[in-house]
Amino acid sequence: MSKTLFQKIMDGEIPGQIEYEDDQCIVLRDINPQAPTHLLIIPRKPIPRVGEATEEDQSTLGHLLLKAGELARKLNLENGFRIVINNGSDGGETVPHLHVHLLGGRALGWPPG
Ligand code: 5GP
Repeated sequence: MSKTLFQKIMDGEIPGQIEYEDDQCIVLRDINPQAPTHLLIIPRKPIPRVGEATEEDQSTLGHLLLKAGELARKLNLENGFRIVINNGSDGGETVPHLHVHLLGGRALGWPPG
């Protein structure tokens, strides 16, 4: 299976400013931000999308959400924030490597487009 864009950034094969990393994930600033704060929280494990995650990914998935909450606190998003996971073409997924979008810093509309 060929490496995804995010895997290449993780492996240092293409440039990407890593804002945070630990043994389970990296965090990038989205290249095309949709809000003043727009981070991507990406597991090191190349799970393609949440719909293909398995029982063995339970702690990884939990880690991504806990990290999102921690980053939101660190970035003072006390007025609120949104976590988004796009899945498949109808869901707006463009990179087939699971990632959690953390959006904040402005009032976000609902429903999403
Ligand atoms: P998706 O549409 O799959 O949910 O999200 C993929 C996200 O990756 C998009 O928001 C897009 O702007 C972002 N993105 C695409 N290429 C790059 C890149 O090279 N670097 C970074 N940091 N983000 C990227």
